[in-house]
Amino acid sequence: MKILVFSPHPDDAEAQMGGTIARYTRQGHEVLISLATIPNNKEARRKESEESSAILGARLNIMDLDPQELVFNRRTVGAFDDVIRDFSPDVVYTCWVYGSHQDHQVVAQSTFASTRKNHCSLYMYEPAALSTGPTPFTFRPQLFIDVTDTFDIKIKSLLAHRTQVKDCQKQWIDIITARSLYLGFQIHVKYAEAFEVVKETGSF
Ligand SMILES: [Zn+2]
Repeated sequence: MKILVFSPHPDDAEAQMGGTIARYTRQGHEVLISLATIPNNKEARRKESEESSAILGARLNIMDLDPQELVFNRRTVGAFDDVIRDFSPDVVYTCWVYGSHQDHQVVAQSTFASTRKNHCSLYMYEPAALSTGPTPFTFRPQLFIDVTDTFDIKIKSLLAHRTQVKDCQKQWIDIITARSLYLGFQIHVKYAEAFEVVKETGSF
């Protein structure tokens, strides 16, 4: 299968679904992480993203959208259409649409627009713990993935984002670990990641 993961910024996909990505690639599926924008420290963060994707066994596509121009319009949706047309995914993941960060909202909305007529299943991963503040909305975990066996790979991929580890100190890793433990407890495994289902295309 071909799995496409849209990530607004470097590290969003890894932090929220790195364990799931590593599960896919371990099983021989092809995963492409499509990174919408690198808002700061561009060269360093580009290298970190390349390293991190490689650790997960995924390919990286840097869309390199201008953060000042990252708005929900035809041009942005066109850029997402290009990625979907070129990669032709079976499954698409995007960020949670109600995150407080405006870039996350635009990436999710653009994903919905670009997948409106295709046959892909579409899921949203959880809002990022540190980059998304409280909102009046609540993420509803619907699809749980056991990432116990790949959790160490996920953490390794996060540590590749050295600029973020430096900015957030150890708290970043601790919060992600705690959340994965909490979600794991809910399905009686050690670590889990969770998703909201936008649409799921069955095949039986
Ligand atoms: Zn982000």
